[in-house]
Amino acid sequence: MPDKILVIEDEERIYDFIERGLKHEGYQVLVAVDGETGLEKTFSALPDLIILDIMLPGIDGLNVCRQIRETELQVPILMLTAKDAVPDRVAGLEMGADDYLVKPFAFEELLARIRALSRRRAPIESDAPLIFADLWLDPSTRMAERNGRNIELTAKEYDLLELFMRHPKQVLTRNQIYDRIWGYDFGGESNIIEVYVRYLRAKLEAMGEIRLLHTVRCVGYALREP
Ligand code: CA
Repeated sequence: MPDKILVIEDEERIYDFIERGLKHEGYQVLVAVDGETGLEKTFSALPDLIILDIMLPGIDGLNVCRQIRETELQVPILMLTAKDAVPDRVAGLEMGADDYLVKPFAFEELLARIRALSRRRAPIESDAPLIFADLWLDPSTRMAERNGRNIELTAKEYDLLELFMRHPKQVLTRNQIYDRIWGYDFGGESNIIEVYVRYLRAKLEAMGEIRLLHTVRCVGYALREP
């Protein structure tokens, strides 16, 4: 699945330039033209990276950045700042942006920053084992265990469980799950997630263990202890 990049920028000339270039490079690109929509898309689509302009209508880029950093999301944020606006850059980094780029910029420069940030992010989504309650997952071997018992998972079951293990205690909506695991928008018709959740539960609870993967009615699912 290609990396998904969210561009929060109100100037059409700029987001158009970024969107076209990144799509050409194989990225999946989402655009939001104001801060509020940017925040909504951040939490609904869980992008792999955010390109965030500081000057936005409504909630400005600095506030968008702060609000994202107040959550558990580890998404890298690349700020776009106006030429010579040094205070903006400093404020952006203080708000938790990972890097900034001064407008106007060459596309190659943007691409280089994105690649650097993706590499830097890699250790966060690392191969270190994930542990939740008595569940244990090893991303390097894609092995799963519960209370020391080996659990054989199919590729999709593994992906689904890893997604929950990387977002413990968070409610993941069906759209988020569909988008992250199947890589495209969910039309609302399919029950494929329900089916996979049922498979996963059967395997995770095969020895009568307590349920960790819970249905959150009308919303989605969450990995949590009862
Ligand atoms: Ca702007």
